[in-house]
Amino acid sequence: MKMLPYSKYSAEELNTYINNTTADAVKNSLRTATPKFNDFLHFIAPAALPLIDEIREKSAAIKKMYFGKTIRLYAPLYISSYCINNCAYCGFRSSFDHQRRRLSFDEIMNEAQIIKDMGHDSLLLITGEDPKGASVPFTAKCIRALKNKFSYINIEFYPMGETDYRTLFEAGCHGLTLYQETYDQELYKTLHLGGPKTDYMFRLNALAAGGRAGFYNLGMGALLGLNPNWRIEATNLAIHAMWIRKRFWRSRTQFSFPRITPTQGGFNVPAPVSDLDLEQMMLAFRLFFREADLFLSTREHHEFRTRMAEICVSHLSAGSQVAPGGYQAFLEGKALGQFTMHDRSSVTAVLADLKARGLEPVFKDWDPCFSA
Ligand code: SF4
Repeated sequence: MKMLPYSKYSAEELNTYINNTTADAVKNSLRTATPKFNDFLHFIAPAALPLIDEIREKSAAIKKMYFGKTIRLYAPLYISSYCINNCAYCGFRSSFDHQRRRLSFDEIMNEAQIIKDMGHDSLLLITGEDPKGASVPFTAKCIRALKNKFSYINIEFYPMGETDYRTLFEAGCHGLTLYQETYDQELYKTLHLGGPKTDYMFRLNALAAGGRAGFYNLGMGALLGLNPNWRIEATNLAIHAMWIRKRFWRSRTQFSFPRITPTQGGFNVPAPVSDLDLEQMMLAFRLFFREADLFLSTREHHEFRTRMAEICVSHLSAGSQVAPGGYQAFLEGKALGQFTMHDRSSVTAVLADLKARGLEPVFKDWDPCFSA
């Protein structure tokens, strides 16, 4: 078990601290208006579990303070399922022989129009690492066209250097999301078996390259279910976020909490994270990173997502399709995907449920005129 290089403490020291946290320490942390890193460790400790109702209440109050009743909705658009990497847990991995697809410019615009017709105004572009199908110049061309349809565009791509990120930023992309997958370097090596993604440090440093390139939103996360100790994974994520926030304080910090779901080609999840574990982790992030955007995708069940929208998360995907051409295929009655979605509700159903809970779903919370 290893911490990421920015950590002042070893994983053993942090683990011992977390496991020795008392209920009184958690209660004290819940009372503080300016939580520190040690308070975050208290919120994720086993000792916090009996206090989960108080933690939920506190998280709901903080979320209301920063976001009111709003929940921002967005949709992913997959560009290519070709990938030169070999990640053991992914249905797009290079060693898995299956039918792949990369969308042309026109096909991307068609998918985008279907998403727009669903009501969305925020788009998340996703691709496998496919230098032929999702090159930087091609992506920049797509972004320049897509920004005429969408107020906000974010990318979840392979890591790049500052120059490439700046090209995409200047084309009109304002957000960057990049998951480290696992912050444990030893575990990372065993799961990333080929391709440029084997370079842990290049991936870790890429978010800072995005910060230097100017992205307004910097999103991060770990793929939950890989690391046998989710509390240490969450701690690494928090340390990474503090490091990024200190250096790129003009950018907004964003967190996602993707939990592995079944993929084509199969993968036995080594360390499943339960609903309660996931909830405790997300609540801890809301309590510590109070103003940050917290995302929950359609990997999770509908009931869990709407409950977390009430007390914790600020952003939900809705009506998602998770394969290149997935929206057109869905209209034609076919199902494709990088991973299994547990919430297949339509945008209309998601809107209705959020409103029934007194929330205010919004499609737009950004306008290109905010851009520098
Ligand atoms: S996780 Fe990303 S980089 Fe890895 S195989 Fe899948 S698409 Fe490629």
